[in-house]
Amino acid sequence: MPIKVIDHPLVQHKLSLIRRKETSTNEFRMLVREVGPMLLYEATRDLPTTLREIETPLERMSAPFLAGKKLCLVPILRAGLGLVDSMVCAVPSARVGHLGLYRDPTSLEAVHYFCKMPDDLGARCVIVVDPMLATGNSAVAALNRLRELGAHQIKLICLLAAPEGLKQVEAAHPQVEIFTAAIDASLNDHAYILPGLGDAGDRLFGTKY
Ligand code: URA
Repeated sequence: MPIKVIDHPLVQHKLSLIRRKETSTNEFRMLVREVGPMLLYEATRDLPTTLREIETPLERMSAPFLAGKKLCLVPILRAGLGLVDSMVCAVPSARVGHLGLYRDPTSLEAVHYFCKMPDDLGARCVIVVDPMLATGNSAVAALNRLRELGAHQIKLICLLAAPEGLKQVEAAHPQVEIFTAAIDASLNDHAYILPGLGDAGDRLFGTKY
């Protein structure tokens, strides 16, 4: 499975600030927003372009424009919302599908509670956006659902990945490319990533301290 660690110094610096427990909810939200387009930038590096004639104020030229499949970003609710708005600013033509999944606290299995997608998923490059790839249960459930709905080309963007999650996604969806800012060491007994950044949803929305 292709895994790309986005080790750009700007991404790494922001990720370190995001991880710090002193980082306030407001700072956390702003940093996650800032890092979104940087992750998307790498994940869209292979989008095809086509040349079209344009005129600059000085002369004509052949200029590259995006061609082929258009994007559909799919944030996993709720933490994926923190990354997706700034990604849409970078690619305003992207559609956004929402997938609601929560982690059953006992079984740690992913439970679906919401799904609203554009109906032409098969014609789009679908990019799942979930900051934390921990056990991989939610990611695999999301990828299964998107395949059922007709998506062919799917990528996954996260901020942090655990080896356990990468292994699970690789086993279930070997063709899905994964983009992450870091691969952390392990999971704790509650399936939180170590060293990680804590609960991404709670830190984004200030729902727990
Ligand atoms: N979800 C989170 O928000 N944090 C983790 O460490 C794992 C899953």
